[in-house]
Amino acid sequence: ASGDHVPALVIGSGYGGAVTALRLTQSGIATAVVEMGMAWNTAGSDGKVFCNVLNPDQRSYWLRTSTDQPIGYFLGISANKSIGRYTGVLDSEKFAGIRVYQGRGVGGGSLVNGGMAVVPRRDYFAQILPSVDLASMYDTYFPRANTGLGVNAIDPAWFETAECYRFARVGRDQAKASGYPTTFLNNVYDFAYMKQEQANTVPRSALASEVIYGNNHGKRSLDKTYLAAAAATGRLSITAQHVVTAVVPSSAGGYSVTMNQIDTAGAVVATKTVRADKVFFAAGSVGTSKLLVAMRALGKLPNLPDAVGQGWGNNGNVMVARANHIWNTTGALESGMPAMGIDNWADSAGPVFAEIAPFPAGTELWISLYLAITKNPNRAAFSFDSSTGGVGLNWQTAWNQPAIDAAKRVFDTINKKQVTVYRSDLFGVNKVWGDDFTYHPLGGCILNQATDNYGRLPGYPGLYVMDGSLIPGSTGVNPFVTITALAERNIEQILTIDSF
Ligand code: FAD
Repeated sequence: ASGDHVPALVIGSGYGGAVTALRLTQSGIATAVVEMGMAWNTAGSDGKVFCNVLNPDQRSYWLRTSTDQPIGYFLGISANKSIGRYTGVLDSEKFAGIRVYQGRGVGGGSLVNGGMAVVPRRDYFAQILPSVDLASMYDTYFPRANTGLGVNAIDPAWFETAECYRFARVGRDQAKASGYPTTFLNNVYDFAYMKQEQANTVPRSALASEVIYGNNHGKRSLDKTYLAAAAATGRLSITAQHVVTAVVPSSAGGYSVTMNQIDTAGAVVATKTVRADKVFFAAGSVGTSKLLVAMRALGKLPNLPDAVGQGWGNNGNVMVARANHIWNTTGALESGMPAMGIDNWADSAGPVFAEIAPFPAGTELWISLYLAITKNPNRAAFSFDSSTGGVGLNWQTAWNQPAIDAAKRVFDTINKKQVTVYRSDLFGVNKVWGDDFTYHPLGGCILNQATDNYGRLPGYPGLYVMDGSLIPGSTGVNPFVTITALAERNIEQILTIDSF
């Protein structure tokens, strides 16, 4: 409630926020998490909390009147449809040159993502975050993150026979035939549950085209792992549907945090201000960067360093699809959770780590879809627009050319070997590359540049950054394990050194 005083306030309930909330509450500190999205714990009229990708309704998108699907076309025709304007679970946030997909709700990106839990290569991590001690990351914090997240491995024997992974086996075999190694990907989706789905003994989720708009079963999202454990301490409060709009030093000590309570149509129904001794920014790469850049520009946190707002990247994301021959079926039933990746990272001429992605249309389409992660060196910056009061991002679509070039080396080779072609009808009309959106926003508040080496914001004792904005635009693999492990490392140091 307005006027409250809390020892610790966490903005956002994704990976950075959930780790922070657990470790603070376990240390005896009462912690308030403020989340702009919904709690996603109540079933709709269809008996389900989330909708699937085949029949998106108002629950799918954050405050839009039509869907904005990453694969927005089929046979060159728009695949989007009208929906009610609602605080849905997936936000497609539009900047000038890129749409940034993000989860909205208690659990952040963990609600919508593909669950792939990949530890980055040690040598690449050393390149991107050279100030972080490698041994402690790989010996302590990555294992701690995997445990906290409930990461599990697929049973390789089951993978070979499961109907729902035919698409992945086809993708693997075609990659191998072109000389590209593949690797199994761990996941937070419960593979034991998925086996039962395949056997038809439990309600289906991953096997019912559920992904990107949430999973009704099987997914160990943060509300079931880190946040549930934090709640069990009795010291956690989570306030959903509240958007933090300002953080300023308070004359009474600590910081005053202003937030708008919103209804499910996004309308502001109340504005509240609370005082917090410590504030942890965990609103995601975009959310944290936007807030901090605005606070600096508006003179509320004027001494934030210039590096705040810099160094944003899309993890080199680019999507592409290939059309297989009629005899190379990918299956009518595809698990929404990927289980295999093509690893061509060792290719210095264009490192690529590509997830063999599902296209869970519920019907045979002969499509091989890939989300490629590349080493695109381009970086963008956030800046405050005083005419609109908003924060923009100067990424240009053309900056994704290095990602396309790297991915093209791999998929041109596979196409040549298979005598197949790209699909050019899924990302637009006659458009091969899904190059104008990302699932992996990273950076904007880089560790040891915009913050100290543990996420403390210089000049403002008690302000911390804990999320994907700390990572300099790239981690070479799907990012949430990196974000989680880095948050584990930073909060441990902060709890040891800083006084609470
Ligand atoms: P987030 O998880 O984005 O959490 C930030 C939270 O803060 C959100 O809940 C947001 O609503 C809230 N927030 C923002 N601003 C405010 C504010 N002003 N006030 C209050 N609350 C606020 N990564 C993987 O590793 N593996 C995958 O398989 C994978 N698949 C993905 C699939 C999709 C469709 C998407 C969109 C992402 C995927 N990702 C995947 C990426 C992964 O989900 C993100 O990297 C991760 O969620 C980022 O964690 P975070 O803690 O930085 O922020």
